[in-house]
Amino acid sequence: MGFWFRIPLWQRVIAALILGIITGLVWGEGAVAIKWIGDLFIRAIKMLVVPLIFFSLVAGVASIGDIRKLGAVGGRAMLLFLVTGQLAVVLGLTLGTLIQPGLGVDASLAGVTTPPALPETSVTDMILKMVPENVVQAMATMDVLALIVFSLLLGIGILMAEKDGEPVARIFDSGAIIMQKVTILVMELTPFGVFALMAWVAGTFGFEGLIPLAKLVALNYIGCAIIILVLYSAMIKFMAKLPVIDFFRGMIDAIAVSYSTASSNATLPVTLRCTQRNLGVSPSVSSFVVSLGATINMNGTAMYLGLATLFGAQIFGVDLSWGDYAMIAVTSTLGAVGAAGIPGAGLIMMALVFGSVGVPLETIALVAGVDRIMDMIRTTTNITGDAAVAVTVAAMTGELNREEMISDDDI
Ligand code: ASP
Repeated sequence: MGFWFRIPLWQRVIAALILGIITGLVWGEGAVAIKWIGDLFIRAIKMLVVPLIFFSLVAGVASIGDIRKLGAVGGRAMLLFLVTGQLAVVLGLTLGTLIQPGLGVDASLAGVTTPPALPETSVTDMILKMVPENVVQAMATMDVLALIVFSLLLGIGILMAEKDGEPVARIFDSGAIIMQKVTILVMELTPFGVFALMAWVAGTFGFEGLIPLAKLVALNYIGCAIIILVLYSAMIKFMAKLPVIDFFRGMIDAIAVSYSTASSNATLPVTLRCTQRNLGVSPSVSSFVVSLGATINMNGTAMYLGLATLFGAQIFGVDLSWGDYAMIAVTSTLGAVGAAGIPGAGLIMMALVFGSVGVPLETIALVAGVDRIMDMIRTTTNITGDAAVAVTVAAMTGELNREEMISDDDI
């Protein structure tokens, strides 16, 4: 037992992935017999969606501490979070449309023959549905969009209540921490879930079935590389007017930790240290922007959600209109906001985005097996984005010590 837990989870997951593929290729279609273990894993993930978003989002907004701070620093940070998030989703949609990683997969093998008919929804309908008539019902029906709206309002309410809001803020803080622990428990199922899902995918679809998954993984890495090297570099160079090389040099520790842990939250202390000591961002701006960003600013996740939705749509032959693309952009951004900074959170959010445009949830089962490899790079993208926004906002508001950033002393 001790031996099992001494191996880092990601290594167990990668081993399960490889063993699962081998088992599936050898066992063939019979591997469907163990698919239920993968389904169990996915059920457990879905179980976390509502409480995780609710607690982490309310706690995230409440952590701003002071409603006035929402102004100068908060406004700029939010704007940058939003713009980079949108660009990331558009990038994911562009890559998914150009390369079409989901083409050539026989969807009928996954047990879904026709895409589900989706009721027509107009833009006004969509806006109306974002405001829940009944919060409990929104939770019960996993209406994540409505839940996010309510959570944001609740967080703002807590800030407005100032001293009176503090006890409730502490409850949500503690709730968020507890939900992260519960998630860690569920994540212990990952090696088994991944093994079963990969055996099923490889057994049912054969070697050819794995090629689209490999394409999806490669596209994820390409997309994340573009976000980090082009988008963030441009932000540092043109908005913060700072040397790009120094930015990345100062971030090396955080990049390494995020890639190996696949958790923005676990990396948070390191990201804070890098932004303050190596990049010269003032403690107040860095703790506000980087902590909030770890929860709500996830460009790697936003890009991934857009890409994965197209992947599912291509597999199951779901026709997407321009309106659907807009819907994916909105829900992917919200999904990235709602995702907690823990391993596998992006996978959980797929249910939200897929559901909004009628992509079958079976796609989650297909990609879950390779999610971890993609999770690592998107987490690195997420936290590098938090730091890039912190540096840019600090540079704009006079909270950056430029000498600190370009000196080599602390690295
Ligand atoms: N693991 C990611 C993070 O912590 C979230 C995700 O799964 O997309 O940033």
